[in-house]
Amino acid sequence: MKEAVVLKEGKEKSLTIRHPWVLSGAVKGVRGQPRRGDLVRVVDHKGNTQGWGFYNPISPIPVRLVSWGNAPVLPDFWKEALEKAIFSRELLEKDPSTNAYRLVYSESDGLPGLIVDRFNDFLVLQTLNPGMDRLKIQIAEYLMERLPIKGILEKNDSDVRQREGLPIQTAHLTGSPTPDSIEIMENGYLFNVDLAKGQKTGFYLDQRENRAAVARYAEGKEVMDAFSYTGAFSVYTAGQGAAALIRVDTSQDALDRGRQNLSLNKLSHLPDEPIRGNVFQVLRKFRDTGRYFDMIILDPPKLAATKAQRDKATRGYKDINLLALKLLNPGGILATFSCSGGIDAATFERILSWAAKDARRKVQVLHRLSQGPDHPVLLSFPESAYLKGLLCQVD
Ligand code: SAH
Repeated sequence: MKEAVVLKEGKEKSLTIRHPWVLSGAVKGVRGQPRRGDLVRVVDHKGNTQGWGFYNPISPIPVRLVSWGNAPVLPDFWKEALEKAIFSRELLEKDPSTNAYRLVYSESDGLPGLIVDRFNDFLVLQTLNPGMDRLKIQIAEYLMERLPIKGILEKNDSDVRQREGLPIQTAHLTGSPTPDSIEIMENGYLFNVDLAKGQKTGFYLDQRENRAAVARYAEGKEVMDAFSYTGAFSVYTAGQGAAALIRVDTSQDALDRGRQNLSLNKLSHLPDEPIRGNVFQVLRKFRDTGRYFDMIILDPPKLAATKAQRDKATRGYKDINLLALKLLNPGGILATFSCSGGIDAATFERILSWAAKDARRKVQVLHRLSQGPDHPVLLSFPESAYLKGLLCQVD
């Protein structure tokens, strides 16, 4: 008997519209003994092949599809997908003002569990399920040959790996070892990035276009960059003529790096007040002391990874947005973001409207923002749309 994951009746529907996940609740049984990380056939209850994907019996998503339909998937299917991913970043590759971007974005690029970020001459790679993890060395060697890069770092420190039964590890993969700090350029601005120790793969590349959009409104403004990390929004807004910066983050290391990034861009003459603290409390303190700002950027970490955490996250977003609205001078700008997969764009907008009502402020949405084109949203996979932002004028 051929190895296969057999679906319950009707559960093939999402696959026929090219959604890439088989959830554990959809599985009726498993034929043969596929091993963790194998490419396995997925069949419907009638025995028709619906596609092929990476198998992991301990995961809540036991199969992640890499091909749909009857044709068997070739062992080197990933080469074609990598080539497509490289091709679709061509505009960024040619842009002389940017040398850092996401080269591969997982399911959106047909490579479930593979994240590859380019930071100038180095790549940072993550493999988030056993099937993709097995291909890690082959993929790294292929990319090393294919691209004009110096080396590749494996930054496999995401909790997602633990849920998939994989170890947490950060290690040199191929080429030259990555230096402690790498200088990258984004839209003409320079940043020092610590690839091994920084958050995520080192830098929040998904906000590149939003930083430019927000900074267009910064001239002459006193800007609070809340959840500033290494100060990317601060550098952009300062570069576009902001009058003063207030950066808030819980991480002292991130605040220090923000300072370095301001000097790297020759912006250290600007008044800059780094505040180490919890944004929820810092905003309350400003409210109590009656301090106001012309522009507030709210870019919190993920408050809801799943739908189950949605209520708590909703309260969190409402809370910080309500406080921020109260702290804005009339005509001020609020740039507010959510990277929580569990909160969709419509919900986020609704939360902001509740906050506006409670704050008694008139809020006009000037721009609806999303993740950059190097984090493409796959229409058949709504889960790939996670970053949303609203750039608003507040009276
Ligand atoms: N705006 C940044 C990315 C923000 S990531 C950029 O463009 O690069 C989220 C940041 O929030 C992290 O640096 C993290 O240290 C910080 N953080 C998390 N919870 C926080 C809290 N309650 N108060 C202040 N900072 C917090």
